[in-house]
Amino acid sequence: MIKELFSENKQLLSFEVFPPKKEEEFANAFLVLDSLAGLQPDFISVTYGAGGSKSKKTVEIASYIQNNLKINALAHMTCVGSGKEDIDAVTAQLKEANVNHVLALRGDRPSYMSDEQFNSRHFPHASDLTGYLNSSTDFHIAGACYPEKHYEAKDLDSDLLHLKKKCDAGAEFLITQLFFDNQVYYGFLDKARSTGISLPICAGIMPITSAKQLGTTVSLSGSSVPKKLADLIATYGDDPAEMRKAGIDYAIEQILDLKAHHVDGIHIYTMNKPKVAREIVSAIK
Ligand code: FAD
Repeated sequence: MIKELFSENKQLLSFEVFPPKKEEEFANAFLVLDSLAGLQPDFISVTYGAGGSKSKKTVEIASYIQNNLKINALAHMTCVGSGKEDIDAVTAQLKEANVNHVLALRGDRPSYMSDEQFNSRHFPHASDLTGYLNSSTDFHIAGACYPEKHYEAKDLDSDLLHLKKKCDAGAEFLITQLFFDNQVYYGFLDKARSTGISLPICAGIMPITSAKQLGTTVSLSGSSVPKKLADLIATYGDDPAEMRKAGIDYAIEQILDLKAHHVDGIHIYTMNKPKVAREIVSAIK
């Protein structure tokens, strides 16, 4: 169980991967996972399409992690486009695959969803999905949190009150949205603790290896870019090899500082790039 690893008082190391889009890409995805497994993470999480349409791919990758690699698999699950029956169906597939850890998410509103559909969704928030899974399954449940607040939240205080509901509904640990400024994370942690959130919180780090990736990442996550990282892009953005090295060094520096601050865990958004993950892990061990 992942939650027991936290109580062993070690800093966890975990990775996030995404499932391949096409069937013919699975063989390569398994090679990526084999390579990541060699870095001995405490768990590997697998993303899920917002509307749930690609859930079988998440289950297949999570099953490989759990059963072939014998590493804890954390399957993401979103509920924005799902009713109870959809969630029960994915639950049954995960159970059959011996996957027992789920990251319960609301998910972003898919572009095809009308206002009416969005406003009448069965599970309004991730805390509702967490409560449902907690009462209807024996899954170990994790939740997402946002050091710079979720983009829909009025402010961080109200976002944290909502996060507290997710914890009270049965989450066992949390993983943050990626961030590039550790000071933002430390401020968030202080506020979370004073809101009564005592669960372990893994810090989400994404290595940026190209200027283009930073642009996409910032527009998807809303994370702010500190001057130091912006300067790296300005200096090395046109030189792919130097940019890759500078981006990896930036992530390593962030992680070493987080480890020195005794964070509960480091969760690396690997973007399915095992070589980048390997360079980081060998530098931080
Ligand atoms: P919630 O916790 O429900 O929060 C969403 C908003 O609702 C927030 O503004 C919150 O303050 C508010 N809120 C929450 N509860 C209440 C309440 N009771 N009353 C009023 N307001 C409330 N997306 C995917 O599609 N697939 C993935 O695999 C995926 N993985 C992710 C992994 C991590 C670690 C993170 C941080 C995000 C991930 N996402 C993923 C993105 C996520 O689905 C979106 O950020 C989504 O918009 C919010 O999901 P949530 O679970 O945080 O929602």
